[in-house]
Amino acid sequence: MTKRCDLGRRNHEIIRLRTEKTMTLDEIGKIYGISRERVRQITLGSGVNVVKMRKAYLQEKILACPVHYTFAQIEEETGAGSALIYETQKSAGITKEVVRKARFYLNVPKKNGDECQEWGGYLHPKSGYGRYAVIKPNLQYAHRFSWYYEHGDIPEGMCVLHRCDNPPCVNIDHLFLGTMADNTLDRDRKGRQARGERMGNSILTREQVMSARRLKKENPDLSFPEIVDLLGVDAAPRTVSQAISGITWKHLAQIT
Ligand SMILES: [Zn+2]
Repeated sequence: MTKRCDLGRRNHEIIRLRTEKTMTLDEIGKIYGISRERVRQITLGSGVNVVKMRKAYLQEKILACPVHYTFAQIEEETGAGSALIYETQKSAGITKEVVRKARFYLNVPKKNGDECQEWGGYLHPKSGYGRYAVIKPNLQYAHRFSWYYEHGDIPEGMCVLHRCDNPPCVNIDHLFLGTMADNTLDRDRKGRQARGERMGNSILTREQVMSARRLKKENPDLSFPEIVDLLGVDAAPRTVSQAISGITWKHLAQIT
């Protein structure tokens, strides 16, 4: 009787080792002093669906990994293949977007009272703004992601502005939505009445030209189509590029 019980326990253990697949048939055989064929027979004869159990076991391990882990990290942690990882994450609702959001917050320091939370990832060397992934032309800066994750889509042509005037800050309480005009209003309050605008047939307003020049100066790697998008104007990139370089709107002082 005892022997049967021990055998049962041994077989159970063998099945466990097989389903978790930490060991090969040979390795298990060596431990219990039986052939690899016998190990196979035991697992087959048990009626246990080894493949299914192993899958369930791996799925559980995959879901126990933090959401921000990369595929490679999960593969290493669980020993699962990337197809199973993908399938498991997908069925659990862990989409690329969910992972991206989780990874975003890894770069955001803990909230400390009303202090700025400066982006811990890449900072644009000139503007000092934090950069994250490039999802679309108007969604690549960390402070804009911060707004997006908290409040949803940023209305077209709107800017995410800093109350604290600290470009790397992504503290949601320090950010607010404004137009390009709001962005430059306080800085350009004393500006002259524009001539270009008064000519009547101009596509851009003085404010927009100033904003475009400021944007390009602070973010030299922005393309002209991106600037058009950020400004929310109905103009060709060429129009904006000429206004920025001073081919048009010559009378407006260049941003220094
Ligand atoms: Zn701040």
